[in-house]
Amino acid sequence: MQESDRPLDEYRRKRSAERTPEPVPSPGPLPRGNDDTFVVHEHHARRLHWDLRLERGGVLVSWAVPKGLPPDPKINHLAVRTEDHPIDYAGFEGEIPKGEYGAGRVLIWDRGRYETEKWSDREVKFVLHGSRVSGRYVLFRTRDKDWMIHRMDPPPDPDWRPLPERVAPMLPVDRRALPRDQALYGFEFAWDGLRAVAHVAGGRLRLLDREGADITERYPELRPLGGTLGTRQVVLDGELVALDARRRPSPELLSRRAHAENPSQIRKLRRDVPVTYLLFDVLHLDGRPLLDLGYRDRRAVLDGLELAGPHWQTAPWFDGDGAAVVTAAREQGLPGVVAKRLDAPYRPGGRSTAWLRVASRTPRG
Ligand code: MN
Repeated sequence: MQESDRPLDEYRRKRSAERTPEPVPSPGPLPRGNDDTFVVHEHHARRLHWDLRLERGGVLVSWAVPKGLPPDPKINHLAVRTEDHPIDYAGFEGEIPKGEYGAGRVLIWDRGRYETEKWSDREVKFVLHGSRVSGRYVLFRTRDKDWMIHRMDPPPDPDWRPLPERVAPMLPVDRRALPRDQALYGFEFAWDGLRAVAHVAGGRLRLLDREGADITERYPELRPLGGTLGTRQVVLDGELVALDARRRPSPELLSRRAHAENPSQIRKLRRDVPVTYLLFDVLHLDGRPLLDLGYRDRRAVLDGLELAGPHWQTAPWFDGDGAAVVTAAREQGLPGVVAKRLDAPYRPGGRSTAWLRVASRTPRG
């Protein structure tokens, strides 16, 4: 805020009261409070971010935090100071119309009481008492409007583990026939797609291929998957497929996407050859590695995330009758099935006999 400004002038300047559903109070004396209310908004603007607002001197002093409040003291997040907001904003949720400042959906992610331990131009120490976030945090200014936010308390869960940098995908072994004891397996369709592991934190998606190369930029239609997971931290495993006119996975179309070379080509192909990301495993969720869980339990966690969007789906799986799944694969023109041991943990980076890939067509000769 500039020295000459009255409180909330910048807030009012950026908005038109007739066009935004946000509270826009007329200039006048500020309400008096106890400087003890905080709110974190989840703001689905052009770029998803979270807005931390602390009541202070009759306004909500605000920071935009692109990755949300850090749950772990080891990782600090950028927080950009934004204009003070009116106190009434603490209760605001709504859709800011297209073309207006901050256009997009605004949700209350958390709200509650807070205590100030220190407040200066460069450093703000406080304790949050929310329902989703609690604990001591410090904001410290690095330059101009740029601040960092650091969690001073240990992670809420002492066993909390940060998201792994990379998990090399587990691979199946090829078999000519289904396993004998089918009751021990779950069955999925094989897709012959492009294996991809998704890392999501702070609403941002990072997509790695089988070799660990970052392929996020090639598939911009998958970016909103990050936003739908909000502040959840998750590693997902799955395959990218491109469907042909008969809605069957086409390796040829997929290969066109995988070899697009520049942004304009990617933009064009995104329109002509969209991909679908079929998710079949979850390897890490909100501070917990899931690799040692059995397939059935990981699947229950994955299915519980209810991931379904315009370009991503949770891939179906079936227990019991593998032969019926092979028949269904053949009828749908899919290359085969993968039988996965229900009790088998996820073993990154290698072929394992816990996963068996069986072709849906009998190989010739
Ligand atoms: Mn915002």
